[in-house]
Amino acid sequence: MPDYLWELEHCTLCEWRCGVDRLVGERGVCGIGIPEVAAAMLHPAPPASYTIFLAGCNFRCLNCQNWEIAHYPDTHEPVRGFVDPGSMAEEALAAIRSLRGRLIGADRIFFSGGSPDPSLPYVEEVVREARKRDSRVKVNYDTNGFMTEASLARVLAISTSITYDIKAYHDDVHRALTGAPVAPVLRNAAAIARNARELLWEFRFLVIPGITVDEVRPVAAFIADIDEALPFNLLAFRPNFVLEHHPRAIQYMMEEAVREARAAGLVNVRVHGHRAVAGERPKERPPPAREGGGGLARRIAERAGCPADVRDCGTCGLQQRCPIKRYRARRSA
Ligand code: SF4
Ligand code: SF4
Repeated sequence: MPDYLWELEHCTLCEWRCGVDRLVGERGVCGIGIPEVAAAMLHPAPPASYTIFLAGCNFRCLNCQNWEIAHYPDTHEPVRGFVDPGSMAEEALAAIRSLRGRLIGADRIFFSGGSPDPSLPYVEEVVREARKRDSRVKVNYDTNGFMTEASLARVLAISTSITYDIKAYHDDVHRALTGAPVAPVLRNAAAIARNARELLWEFRFLVIPGITVDEVRPVAAFIADIDEALPFNLLAFRPNFVLEHHPRAIQYMMEEAVREARAAGLVNVRVHGHRAVAGERPKERPPPAREGGGGLARRIAERAGCPADVRDCGTCGLQQRCPIKRYRARRSA
């Protein structure tokens, strides 16, 4: 086993702090052993990059758009598997320098998933190998923010940019949607915003009808309280995974979300993932009146088999037999 993976013998990379020995097959919340690459490709989404998708995730989000790799190996999805970090680095650099890489403006290696947090020692090794070959290569780290403070320090040390998801502000909504508490996510977001502002590409927030719509304002206010100029990117939900039958976020919701974020004080608000023409009135009917984002998400999780009154995947007795992890969506966005 490579030396850089030693800490997987007692894994505390993220705030679940499972303490399991991933090298001998014990599984924590993320469910993965040694880091494995699910896929890697040039990707135009800003920042344009060569994106490496790591298998596994420490969250169990009802809306996951990459659930096939996030819940690997339970999904039995074919993945590339463990790739030698030096080979991975060479592949990424070659793709960035290729004609297509230059045409799309790719200028960095982008680590995503699933979540790259359970694979942090591998990410560090790929970056080390890449910078041995090109000391100026940029690195983007894409995170749900659930890492420990020690892991965050390591992420800051290797990153040129960070894309950071905040899924909700209130703990009940965050838990119902992701299975995890929100406090570490907000703590790490504040630490980056206050102490490593130059690394933050953007905070990202997914607008989910009836679940996170009312979270826009408190999340935006939380960010604006630190710095009103911090970048905030609103993403429009499309039906996916356990929420495969949920209504998508339509135009007026995104417009309202922008208004809410600006009313909370943010001046740098963007919208992504919505093709409707600005100002066009929606043709779809709006979803039923909101019954409380956490309550609705909780009831949807329950219908999918999660029996927890308060989702906490780190302490749940069903952690390794989780019905959410075993959910198979029939349709995807
Ligand atoms: S969930 Fe987090 S602490 Fe637990 S095994 Fe995975 S990376 Fe380690
Ligand atoms: S069943 Fe347990 S592990 Fe699975 S989503 Fe619910 S709380 Fe989390």
